[in-house]
Amino acid sequence: MKCFSSDAYFAYLPEGHPFPMCKFPESASLIRDQGLAEVIDPGFIRLEELYRAHAPEYVNSIRTGDYNELTAQRLGLPWHPTIWRRSLSATSGTVQASRVALEEGLSANLAGGTHHAFYDRGEGYCVFNDVVVATRALHVEEPLLHVMVIDLDAHQGNGTAALFADQPHVFTYSLHVGKNYPSRKEPSSLDVEVSRYAKACEYFERLHETLPRAIELFEPDLIFYNAGVDVHENDRFGQMKLSTEDIRLRDEYVLKMTHRLSIPTCIVYGGGYNRDPHVTTLLHVQTIRVASQIEKQGKETRII
Ligand SMILES: [Zn+2]
Repeated sequence: MKCFSSDAYFAYLPEGHPFPMCKFPESASLIRDQGLAEVIDPGFIRLEELYRAHAPEYVNSIRTGDYNELTAQRLGLPWHPTIWRRSLSATSGTVQASRVALEEGLSANLAGGTHHAFYDRGEGYCVFNDVVVATRALHVEEPLLHVMVIDLDAHQGNGTAALFADQPHVFTYSLHVGKNYPSRKEPSSLDVEVSRYAKACEYFERLHETLPRAIELFEPDLIFYNAGVDVHENDRFGQMKLSTEDIRLRDEYVLKMTHRLSIPTCIVYGGGYNRDPHVTTLLHVQTIRVASQIEKQGKETRII
């Protein structure tokens, strides 16, 4: 399986900042060292591609650090020149991974899933909305491509929902805690809410009763899977109670289903703010390990 990552995915943050920036280089190293996937540098996204999803003035404000008022209030990432490089590179990773997924069936960006980014502002550590930028790039070539976002990050994908509103060839599915950030949610095609501190039993019941039907009805040509790991019981912000094994089962459930249905799938990281930052890294690596195993099993089955 091909994955995308770069040294540029790491941006400088002040000491003690809650965003675990180290998860990007650490997870890429582990994935490479354990032979789980090939890791490729995606380079930097071109500005014209960003402008399909974001206002040029907003894009420029990330370059200069002159954040607009809402971004300054809500982004949560103090500006540094590396924020600009990181945002260009990580967004490119999802664009490249989505193309590989269409060609090869499965791929991942070892970052991305920045689903709180809107047209003209950043929120909740999300600068550019990588999944929207990637979808717009694919729609330039294939306007009728059915794209589905399966967003299993603990928080609602408000930016993605707003940017994709009223687009008939995109379906946004978000399963999240109802009473949690963002307080103002934007309507997805299908929002599935679970209670605060939901455990595996409730979580899987809601997932199983809604996701297969949504996939069946929409018939996607490509799926973006936001495999956010802030659903973990020891996360600071997610407010869910899934164990490490529950998250493995969740990833396996989604990826086995998309594999069985032969729907190309592009995995993006989404959030993760575990009290132990190294656990966040390991949870993202676990998602890639599950994907890699499913892909290998699929290849062996085809050979037989
Ligand atoms: Zn989240």
